[in-house]
Amino acid sequence: MLDLQTQRTTPQERDLIARLERLSSSAGSHSPSLTMMQEALPDIDVRIDACYLSNPLATDLFWSHFNSDASKDPRFFMRMLEAYPSQNRIIAERFSHAIAVDPGRIFIANGATEAIQAVLHNYSSHVHVNVPTFSPYYEFATPKHEVTTFQLDQDEDFVLDPERYVQSVKRSGADAAILITPNNPDGYQIPDDHLEWILSQLSDLRTVVVDESFIHFSREAESQRLPTLVGLTDNYPNTTIVKSMSKDFGIAGIRAGYAIMKPSRVNELLDHGYLWNINGLAEYFFSLFSRPEFLDEYRTVLKTYNGYIFEFKLKTSAAGFIRSYPTGANFQLMRITNGMTSELVTTLLLLRHGVYVRNCADKIGLDGEFIRVAIRTEPENALIFQALEDVLA
Ligand SMILES: *Cc1c(COP(=O)(O)O)cnc(C)c1O
Repeated sequence: MLDLQTQRTTPQERDLIARLERLSSSAGSHSPSLTMMQEALPDIDVRIDACYLSNPLATDLFWSHFNSDASKDPRFFMRMLEAYPSQNRIIAERFSHAIAVDPGRIFIANGATEAIQAVLHNYSSHVHVNVPTFSPYYEFATPKHEVTTFQLDQDEDFVLDPERYVQSVKRSGADAAILITPNNPDGYQIPDDHLEWILSQLSDLRTVVVDESFIHFSREAESQRLPTLVGLTDNYPNTTIVKSMSKDFGIAGIRAGYAIMKPSRVNELLDHGYLWNINGLAEYFFSLFSRPEFLDEYRTVLKTYNGYIFEFKLKTSAAGFIRSYPTGANFQLMRITNGMTSELVTTLLLLRHGVYVRNCADKIGLDGEFIRVAIRTEPENALIFQALEDVLA
């Protein structure tokens, strides 16, 4: 691919590409963050972060409440700094009303990633993951774990075939199965009746994880409730729901998530750790979540944002210069079809347009050249689309 790269880039761009490659290889298992990139490569003007997945309207909403509460209370920041936050069970108790789940079933986590680690390390020895997937589901496997995979088919738009899937879990001998819906990175959403059938077939398994971190983007919020699969999984005590708040509430930096599981497991986890795993800022977020007026405003913001997602998908699915996949999430997986590598496309988007997207070259089970594009505000989406067109068409 070097020839193509040389043909299509200037020497300055090639220099920046080399520096970017070095940065990526030192960034750990995930893409370099925007902050990391701007520190290392100050001459790159990153204008839009379409790599990390976040609802920007919800970040603004959080920010306005945060500022208004801080301005009303002179000790707001001081308390957050000097006082211990509440313990896990107490936050769960307060938060339980907002999500209408028995507090004994809620494990409050320092980001959903912590809940994933807790469940995998304590309630599985062999995990079966669908690939491509969100990588912690196999990266957190310990040396004692076995990991097996079920390949999702890109020619079928990553649709999960329930019967083939259940057979694959049973044949694998795994004691834990992971379902992410909508899935990251492809965005496929498992229909409720398929999910229910799968859970009924796997009810003897030790653990089934249903990760609904992107569910707010896939269906209409009903008048009072936010979308969730909690009710659907209630009959299956081996099931754990995992929910991140980072993407839909746009607050990845404060680390807030939770898992819902049977009370005996919550007790077991909390009896042996996780006492103050939530910091003061995240506790503030959980308390905000418990205010009905905040949730009302959030639902409004979500509706607007989901409208932007809808519009963006309409445009990309009609675009001839890239193959984009149907998605129920706030991002879209795209396959590059013009012979360029995902590395080159990612880099040119960044250098020429300041648009940072996820290069999916490291995703296991994703054969071919793919990028994942986070969907943002309307004007940002327009710029992202123009950038894609310019680099690819
Ligand atoms: C981002 C993500 C998470 C974890 O998010 P946290 O920031 O740790 O809350 C969990 N599951 C999926 C599918 C994700 O994409």
